[in-house]
Amino acid sequence: MKLSDEQIQLRDWVHDFAADVIRPVAEEWDEKEEFPYPVVQQAAEIGLYGWEFMAQGMMGDPTGLTMPLAIEELFWGDAGIGMAIMGTGLAAAGIAASGTPEQLMEWVPQCYGDAEDLKLGAFAASEPDAGSDVAGYRTRAVYDEATDEWILNGTKAWITNGGIADIHVVIGVVDPELRAKGHASFIVPPGTKGLSQGQKYKKHGIRASHTAEVVLEDVRVPGHCLLGGKEKLDERLARVREGKSGNAQAAMQTFEATRPAVAAQALGVARAAYEYSLEYAKERHAFGRAIIENQAIAFMLADMATEIEVTRALIWKAAWLGKNGTFENAEGSMAKLKAGRVATWVTERAIQILGGYGYTREYPVERWHRDAKIHDIFEGTEQIQQLVISRVISGIRIE
Ligand SMILES: Cc1cc2nc3c(=O)[nH]c(=O)nc-3n(C[C@H](O)[C@H](O)[C@H](O)COP(=O)(O)OP(=O)(O)OC[C@H]3O[C@@H](n4cnc5c(N)ncnc54)[C@H](O)[C@@H]3O)c2cc1C
Repeated sequence: MKLSDEQIQLRDWVHDFAADVIRPVAEEWDEKEEFPYPVVQQAAEIGLYGWEFMAQGMMGDPTGLTMPLAIEELFWGDAGIGMAIMGTGLAAAGIAASGTPEQLMEWVPQCYGDAEDLKLGAFAASEPDAGSDVAGYRTRAVYDEATDEWILNGTKAWITNGGIADIHVVIGVVDPELRAKGHASFIVPPGTKGLSQGQKYKKHGIRASHTAEVVLEDVRVPGHCLLGGKEKLDERLARVREGKSGNAQAAMQTFEATRPAVAAQALGVARAAYEYSLEYAKERHAFGRAIIENQAIAFMLADMATEIEVTRALIWKAAWLGKNGTFENAEGSMAKLKAGRVATWVTERAIQILGGYGYTREYPVERWHRDAKIHDIFEGTEQIQQLVISRVISGIRIE
């Protein structure tokens, strides 16, 4: 497969930003465990952080490869900073998945702001007692007809940009009896009373990305903040109550379509570790020869290179299928599953190749290993991807 000139240009543009701006400060922000505002600001100044870039990547490219290409380079630079730049995209994707075109135009630009006035978005679905089990969400959304407002109460957990975002997209339970089919998505606009940040998590990896609880106490949002609108919601809930399942298929396609981008994050981390350990193996000498001259090391690198190539091919295929709406076997989930595992494995092998140095913070591979692991967990764990894939390939409701 040959990339177009435009795609090569885009890849090189993001790569240069990752190499020149992100890499030199990656360790510093990992140690600080703080949101890297100055770096995101620089990304906004060149147009890498912004709603136009997201819109172009998500909608303007018929091959679906723009986002995987850009994200692989960004996360090659650093996954924590990469997540700080991409985290707002989760909110934008949530708005795109459920909002009307007017809501998309109104809220997505507000998630990003611009280089003069940077804004952030957050997508708040997970809860302390319900991550994979979305039917277990408890955050309630109750409609107040008198004021045409929705009242949100509950606690969201593990939210990227939670509490520091300007726009929070929150999943609420409208009808608890309908379980996962009784949910709706709401915009919580900037400065809304009752929304606050709970604990900020101290994490294993991607430490430059901000992850926190979001507490919602009698948060009142205007009726027009319900994504998709009330009429559509009422119709959907009525259909579900009649036993005519809503749009589960559409939701599934949306998740499948965003997973290749998450897989590309993991791929970027894996490639960083592979490239670094390849060079190290050529330089480091033991027993009078470069360690790469031992098959034990060279074959490890051969396997790492092969796994990375296989993963990229699967990601690109899944991204293309996602863009063209033609998934056959949950390839989006396959790409996410494979990439998370490959990143975790490749980065662990990289530590092995660097030996004692690999285990210290003097060298970046231990950080990449910590960063890689998140890709087996968020946006659907390893086991949830397996669940999705096994159901699609078997046609059986595997539990
Ligand atoms: C750094 C970070 C950032 C995040 N950002 C966001 C965000 O921006 N927005 C958001 O909404 N959420 C976010 N999350 C939440 C993330 O999506 C959840 O952590 C994830 O979905 C898993 O949920 P859980 O942690 O509750 O684990 P659980 O669901 O409790 O799972 C625990 C273990 O049980 C396994 N398991 C669960 N159910 C099954 C089953 N049926 N079959 C087999 N195994 C099963 C899981 O695979 C896992 O290994 C983030 C999490 C982290 C760590």
